[in-house]
Parts: sequence; C-alpha cells; structure tokens
Amino acid sequence: MPNVPSTCYECDANCAIAVELDNSGEPIGVKGPDCPRCYVQIDRRNHPDRLLYPLKRTGPKGSGQFERISWDEALDTIATRLDQTRQQHGAPAVAFFAGYTKEARPQLQRLAHAFGSPNYLTESGCCFSATLVAEKVTFGARVKTTSTVASSKTKCILNWSTNPRGSIPPFDTHPLANRKPGLALVVVDPRRTPLAEQADVHLQLRPGTDGALALGFHHLIFANGWQDQGFLDEWCNGVNAFRDYVKDFAPERVADICGIEVSDLRRAVEIFATTRPAQITLSPTATVQHSNGFQNHRALILLSAVTGNLDREGGNRFFSTKVSPKPIELFEHCLNDLPPRIGDEVFPVWTRYWPAGQSMLLPNCILDGEPQRVHSLLAMGINTAMWPNSKRMEQALGALDFFAATDFFHNEATLQADIVLPAATNLERPALIAYPGCAYQGELRYRRAVVAPKGEAKPDAQIFLELGVRLGMGEQFWNGDLEASWAEAGEGIPDEIRTEVFTNPDGVTVYADIIEELVEHGFLDADRSYRLKGINTRSGKVEFDAEELKEAGHDGLPVYREPAESPRSQPEVFKDYPLVLTSGARTKFDTHSQHQRLERMRRAVPNPLAELHPQDAAARGIQDGDAVVVRSPRGQVGFIAKITDRVKPGVVHCTHAWRGANINELTDDRTLDPISGFPPFKSSLCQVEKDRAAGQQAAPAPAAGTTVKAALPAAA
Ligand code: SF4
Repeated sequence: MPNVPSTCYECDANCAIAVELDNSGEPIGVKGPDCPRCYVQIDRRNHPDRLLYPLKRTGPKGSGQFERISWDEALDTIATRLDQTRQQHGAPAVAFFAGYTKEARPQLQRLAHAFGSPNYLTESGCCFSATLVAEKVTFGARVKTTSTVASSKTKCILNWSTNPRGSIPPFDTHPLANRKPGLALVVVDPRRTPLAEQADVHLQLRPGTDGALALGFHHLIFANGWQDQGFLDEWCNGVNAFRDYVKDFAPERVADICGIEVSDLRRAVEIFATTRPAQITLSPTATVQHSNGFQNHRALILLSAVTGNLDREGGNRFFSTKVSPKPIELFEHCLNDLPPRIGDEVFPVWTRYWPAGQSMLLPNCILDGEPQRVHSLLAMGINTAMWPNSKRMEQALGALDFFAATDFFHNEATLQADIVLPAATNLERPALIAYPGCAYQGELRYRRAVVAPKGEAKPDAQIFLELGVRLGMGEQFWNGDLEASWAEAGEGIPDEIRTEVFTNPDGVTVYADIIEELVEHGFLDADRSYRLKGINTRSGKVEFDAEELKEAGHDGLPVYREPAESPRSQPEVFKDYPLVLTSGARTKFDTHSQHQRLERMRRAVPNPLAELHPQDAAARGIQDGDAVVVRSPRGQVGFIAKITDRVKPGVVHCTHAWRGANINELTDDRTLDPISGFPPFKSSLCQVEKDRAAGQQAAPAPAAGTTVKAALPAAA
C-alpha cells in the first residue's frame, strides 16, 4: 500500500512523516527525519503493556489492581464524580491537567472552563512558559531564541545552555549544532557539550548562576562603552538604575560566583558585544528551572537590548505567530466569569501572561488546601516525575477524592487513579497541527488518523468531548464530534489557505527557514518592528526596571540571588551535600519519560546516569559504571555512574524522567521561583556515594519494561 503522510508526535516538534501500511492497513514502517524517536511509533502502538481498555481501580490506591470496564461505565463514573465534587465543594475544586499530548489541550481546557472550573493546569507550569512571561514583561513580546530559524546575517551566537544535538531535530545536523565558518561562538553551559568544544570561549558556569554571569556581561559592556546608547536612550526604561546595579558585578566577583576564569569572561563579553549582529540562543528550561530563574532569564535576554540586537535581523527577532487557530478553549469565559486560577494568588505576573493555572502548586492544593482546595482531578498524560519532590505529588494524588487519567501506559500517577482511560496514539487520532511546536517550522496541516486505535483506545480530545456531552453540554461540545471541534478551531486560519490545510496531507507552510523568506511571506515583521508598533510593555519601553514586577512585590531590576540551595546560600547543608545537582539535559533518545518502555530506545540509553567529574568520582572511590546513590535532603535515588570531564568539577548531572530512578524525588518543591513558580530542577545540592549494596559494577542494563512489568499490572 502507498505511504500515508502524517505527523509525528513523539515530541511536539510536529515533524512530517510517511507511514507505510501493509495490505491490511496496519502500520509497518515510518519514514521521517533522522530522529530515533520517530521510528518507535509503531513499537508504542503495539507494545504489550499498552493500556487498551478503560479500567476501574479495584484495590487500594497504588496497588495496581484494576479491572476492565466499558466506556459507558467509565465516562458515566467520571461525569458523576466530577459533578458530585462540584455540588459539594464548587467547580474550582475540580482541576483539569494536561501533560502530553499537547494536541488535545484546547478540548480539555474548554471542558474545564465550561464545567465552571478555572483550574486548567499544564506541564508548562515547569517548562517554557517562564521564558515567555519574562520576555513579555521585559520586551512586551516573545523573542526568537530557540527556533530553527537561523539568519544568514548573524555574525555571532551566544549559546546559553542549550544543546541542539540533544534537543532540536534534526539534532546532529541542525544548523545550530555545528559552528559555521566565520561565525563567532560563545557557549555558556555547565556541561562541555560538543558545541562548547567548537566555541571561541566556553564559560562552564556553576548551575544557577546564570543571572550573575549575565550581569557580569552587562558590567563589562557598560564599562567598555559597548552598549547601544541610542537604543537605550530612546527605547529603554530604567537603564540608569540598572547600570548602577551592575557596577557590583565586576569580573572578579562574577568569576568567583560562577566558577569561571576572569580572562574567559572578558574575552567572551568582548566577542559577543563587538560582533554584530549577535543572536542569543536559549533553552526553554535551562535558565528558568531555578529558584531565581525568572530574573536570571531577564538579565540574560536584556543583553540583546543593551547591545542593540533586539528585533534586528541576525539578532533576536520578536516572535510573531501570524496564523493561529480560532480559540476554542473558552479562556475569555475563564478570565471574565470564573474565580481566580490556582496561582493567581501567588504568581500573579506569571498567570497574567499564561493562560492556565500553576500546576506546581497542585500538591499543596490537594494536601493543604493552599492556595485553593482541590478534591478531584481529570488528567491527560500526567506523570508525578514532572513535579519536584515527586513522592509528595504521588501522595497528593492518593489523597484525592476522585482521580481519572488518560494515558498509553500505567505510571506512578495512574496507579493512584480511580479510572484509567486508554489514549490513542498520534497514528490513531486526528488533530489540527497548527499550534507551534518546538521546531516552529510553521506547517499547518490537518492530520487524519492513519489507522484505527488499538483495542478500545480513544483520542484524548474525543474523550473530553464525550465527557462534555455527559455533563449536559452536548451543544457546546459539538455533540461529541471531534472533527467538528477541529473544524471550528480551523476557522482561525485565513480563508485562502484553510481548505488546503484540511485537504492537502502535506499541509501548508506559512513560514519557512530563513528570515528573508519570513519577511517575503509576510509572516514576520520587518526589522525593528517596534519603530512602527512601539514596545508593548507597561512603560512602552524595554523594561530594565519593571514597575509591573515592583507592584507585585518583586525587584524591578533583574536582581541576582543565589539559588535557594547552593554552596553559598546553604553552607550548612553543603557540608553534608557537597555537590551541585543539575538534571534534565535532553537527548534525542527520549522525550522525558515517554520512551521508557520502548526497547529500541532503551538499548540506546540503557541506564539512568549520574554524570560526575573524574575528580569527584576519585574522591569517592567511584568508577565508571558503578551503581551509585545520589542523596539530597529529600531522599535518595540509585543511578549508574558515568565518569566524564564534560561536567564541571563539583557538579553532578542526572538524567531525568526514569522510572525507578526519578531524579525529581530529590529536587526541592519548597523553593519555587517567586515570580513564575518554576521549580529548581537545575540547581540544588546532593551527595553521591557508591552503592555498596549493589556491588562494584552495575548490573547489566535492564531490558525496557523489565522493572516496570514487575511493578505494574499488565494492561487488562
Ligand atoms: S523531532 Fe519529535 S516530532 Fe520530529 S520526528 Fe523526532 S520525535 Fe517526531
């Protein structure tokens, strides 16, 4: 049979793929980008542990005892229990959570708000959104920092803690993964990545000190007169106060804080500030997953303004999404008619710019009733490994009055659920691919299901529509017609391309790879769009000293504070936990926990790794491949040691999202960033010791699913 065009969703880059079907219409192969995750979609569909039928828990929470039930019973139970919570405690006491897939977010958010709850929460409570909000507060716009769009005009790249080879398709051959001839390159990263090895200067900073380093950049820029004074005078607010503040960030002090060489710092700043246009490339998480992340990120992105590279071709352009679907989420109804969202009380600046509640507060809401009491939860693709101090989140899920979850497989979260629903994979569900994913390549297309769902699995979005119908809102939920919901979302697409988006399986590309094409196609504003439109902030200027932050009780300047748990801020804790713990570097072999069960992926990365510098390993008698225990004030988790001088001495990097080796059991849930609520995944303290009970060398790599099967029930 011919190949069927489709869209991958093994991560949210939305890459175009072609699915090969056999004569019976069963997928047997996938052609797509050079991405190992792409090729395991069929493994996921056919995995023996996959959830294929609705399940009802029959044993204690966490026991793994479930029995198969009908869809009617499952949906009726969920609708009844959510309605009971609404009657007893009010609609906000029911929370709705979206992890992965992100495709069904619009339908789930609509369900939450139509139900009367403002408490729609997402995984963005700890990912990406803080960078967007920092950019909105500072520039009034999102800036292009992580996109695949690279301008031929760029002369210098300041790469700040992002590793394209691990995170952006097509990985090793990504335009940003290798230094181009003639391009100046400065890399800031606690790990010596392959890109760092190609840099003019690599600043290997202590995790969590990004803000101090950025302020040190500003200090040297002002001290040497490298600032774009004309831009600062005309377009920026609070520059004098900022300039005074950065006087305290002399190179010697900054080098001492960050653990770098003064000479390297001076050289890096000179290269960045005097080679224009320069572009800062950033991760959506690395600078903001700290207790001080929001202001760190602001200090960093202001480098683009101070050097006049903001919204300049070859610099950091304002991001413009000119084509977006019609909103079907009822968010306006939430803002205008519903009570405050979780987080409005605590992180009002973040919620002002982000259309969801702050999910990092969910354990507090369930266990302590703070800042709001949550009694019931409907979740899509939830995993407790996403929360700092994950065991507490597991405890919280176990304390809910009612909890229902959709997923492909069981995990620690679903084991606490009352009802578990089998989700269709991307090969099995339709979706309007129009919400920019990580790659921002701008294809709009309507993906039809390539094959019917396995067993009785259903698309998440379909499930939410059917729940809307059972809750008495049939008309508002297209009477359960999923295609109709996507058609209504598609009404936001311009008439001239909408039909093609829905009928051409290859879709329509509305913005392409390079700036010139973007401008030519009219989907990105021309250079320095602020001259026409102004700067959309409170002051109408770039906010070095933001009144909006002061009003909310924060520093208006991007003030540097030590991470809440660091060698300097917690010297007593540091005596027992003398290593800085960071985690979460991306690899192309997994999307968080989503590929844990797929054997081909596990063969590529068979063990959860704790990466230590040889000096730190030798001091502890640890050899490469040893089983080790990583301890923090929250607990201990076993990993396999990888001895590498790619990490900085005194720093341990652990892979994240492993079942049975979840690094977030060790991270801190009490020191969230005060503006965004983001957790400090990337800077805290730990100790690493050889796991003597496990023997000298690690056991052979476990086959995928081995430990999982032992702990979890097989799909019914
Ligand atoms: S980058 Fe993401 S969407 Fe693209 S092929 Fe790989 S897993 Fe699929």
